[in-house]
Order: sequence, then C-alpha cells, then structure tokens
Amino acid sequence: MQKINYQVNEKGYYGEFGGAWIPEMMFANIDELRRRYLEIIQLPEFIKELDQLFQDYVGRPSPLYYASRLSEYYGTSIFLKREDLNHTGSHKLNNTVGQILLAQRLGKTRIIAETGAGQHGVATATVCALKGMKCVVYMGALDVQRQAPNVKKMKMLGAEVVSVQSGNKTLKDATNEAMRDWIKNPEDTHYIIGSVVGPHPFPDMVARFQSVISREIKAQLLGKTGSEFPTRIIACVGGGSNAAGAFYHYLNHNQVELIGVEAGGKGVDTKDTAATLLVGSPGVLHASRTMLMQNRDGQITEPYSISAGLDYPGIGPLHSHLHKTKRAKYIATTDEEVLKAALLLTRKEGIIPALESAHALAALEKLKLNENDVNVINLSGSGNKDMETYLNAFNF
Ligand SMILES: *Cc1c(COP(=O)(O)O)cnc(C)c1O
Repeated sequence: MQKINYQVNEKGYYGEFGGAWIPEMMFANIDELRRRYLEIIQLPEFIKELDQLFQDYVGRPSPLYYASRLSEYYGTSIFLKREDLNHTGSHKLNNTVGQILLAQRLGKTRIIAETGAGQHGVATATVCALKGMKCVVYMGALDVQRQAPNVKKMKMLGAEVVSVQSGNKTLKDATNEAMRDWIKNPEDTHYIIGSVVGPHPFPDMVARFQSVISREIKAQLLGKTGSEFPTRIIACVGGGSNAAGAFYHYLNHNQVELIGVEAGGKGVDTKDTAATLLVGSPGVLHASRTMLMQNRDGQITEPYSISAGLDYPGIGPLHSHLHKTKRAKYIATTDEEVLKAALLLTRKEGIIPALESAHALAALEKLKLNENDVNVINLSGSGNKDMETYLNAFNF
C-alpha cells in the first residue's frame, strides 16, 4: 500500500485541500507568516517559553482520566483527556498562547481575532492581557447578543469587541471583517485564527500548537496501560483544532482508529445541521480549499447546532484530507443525543462537559465497543458556559 502523507506540503496542501486562496492585498501578511513560522516555533528559546506557559499558565499536562463508571456502563475502557481543566475551560488556549508568542517574535503589537461563540475571543483576549497587547475581536452582531457573558469577559480582559452588522451577522461575517482589518494593518497586527482553518500556514500552525494534546496522551497512556496506542481516539469537530491536536501524533499509526464527530444538529437529513463532511462538497472558504456547506449556486449555507462552537460551515483542510483518504472516520451526533450524553457523563463521573465535547461522548452509542478496547475521548471543554442550555433542556 502506498504511504499517504498527512502533513502539509510546501504549498500548504493536504492532498487536494488547503492552500492560501488569498486576495493579492493579503499577500504581504501571509507571506511573512509562511516564511517565518516554522523557524520561530522551533527555536529552543520559543519552545522553552511555550512549555513554561503550558505548565504554569494553562495548567498542563491536562490529566488523562480513566472514567471507571462510564467504562463499566459501556463495557469497555474509556479515558477522558481533560482539556476542560485548562485555564479558560477548553483546548483553545493552547493555540492562542502559541500564537501570541509568535506574534511577539514577529514584532507585532496589536492582535485581531474573529469569534462566533466567543470562546476563541476570550482565549485571545486572555493572552493579550498576559502579554500587554492591544486586542480587537470581531463578532457578528447576532452573536454579540447571544453570547453576552463572553462579550463581558472580553471587555473585562481589555479587548475591544467590534459588532459586525454585515451579512447574517454571524461568524462568517466577523471573519471577513477581521481579514479586512488585517489587510489594512499588515505592519503591526497579527491575526489569531482560532482553529485549523483559513489560509496556509494557519491550519498547520494551529495543529502544531494543539498537538501537545496527543503528545501528552501518548506518554500518559503508556504509563497507565503499558502502550502508547489506544484502540481509538474520539474528538468533536467544528473547525477541527481539538481533533487535530488529539489525532496529530497518531496520524501515521494506522492501527489507531481516529473518529471525528460533527454536529448533526436536528439530523444530517435536515437543513439544521453543521455536519460539513457528511453533507458538504469542496469549495473555497476563508482562503482555503476544503469541504463546506453550500447550495447549488455555491452560496454558503448557514449551519445550525445546539453548540455554538461547532456551527461553522467549513472544516479544516486536514480533516477534508483525512476524510477523503479514509484515515479518519467522521460521524455526526444530533442535539438530542448530545444532551443525553452530557447528562450521562455528569451522572456517572461528576463532570459536566461542554456541549461540543458531548458530541464526542454521544458517539459511544454509535460505535461497536469491545471489552478490551481502549477508547480515548478528547474532552475539549467544560460545561460551565452551557448551563443555560442544559437547564432549559432538562428543566431542573
Ligand atoms: C471551539 C470549541 C470546539 C470546536 O473547535 P475545534 O476547532 O473543532 O476544536 C470544541 N470544543 C470546545 C469546548 C470549544 O470551545
């Protein structure tokens, strides 16, 4: 069998997906980043500072927890990678800490970001406070209304939140506005993209910062089971950064099954879904060739999910490639299945998961699990931010 390459090539492609489909006016920004990111993030002094912040600021390594009552329930072994225990409550800080250190070394003094649910905005505002950088976060006007607590957090952290009035007033429009800002301010500004999406080199760069997740899983699993290799790894997929991080060091080990779980919403056969790989087709979104949700005229369709962090109409090019080559398997779980899975984890283990992470938990119902299997679930975030949704759903 021919060996398939899962790393990005020099032009920024994973197979047929990826690249940098940028307007001429953004060339300077992207070119500087593309030429310098690898050299900078591999400097011993960069690695030292990143590791130190991961340990003392983010709180890494995050535990790999053997969920004994959940394991007993499913008749298999289940480990949870506790990204929910990171500072600010999810995996997102791994990426923003890495990018702020890179921005400093590029001599930037101003940071911009886009955010939908507000989680990436908070993670970005957090590292800007940490490093004393100016921070502007673009957010669709509708999301500003829906995510009021996160908007307040960003403001307390010192960020300026720009409410974007164009288009559908959601994430896609915020991203367009952030790109416009970057074009206007190429000298002093770095754009922190929040997932493994956008033009090259962002997907590769973000995957490298998140790869700390699978680096730790390997060492922790070896200590707990005597092998670095689980039967399978399961992670939810919005843009795909927590999944990319959890899969990264296993990509070339074909014996490890990789399972990405998309947001099925009200079902993949309805229009209320965000399962990009399952219902989408190839196209260009946010300067990257990837799978996306679009109508016959190539207009992006508005995604839907109960979890704000997963309703993105595209997906990172790495995942489009893993899907196409069948290295990873992608399934979808519905809102209803997700709520059940969240309650099950809460009652079995005393851990309230983020709605996003509960998509990965709900996959346990759909997979054939053997007694001797070792399952690792990436618990990408905490449910603190989702209490209102849970309380409404369960009527406590
Ligand atoms: C943002 C978010 C996600 C989705 O983003 P990915 O890039 O797909 O990882 C998943 N889980 C949580 C908790 C999030 O905040």
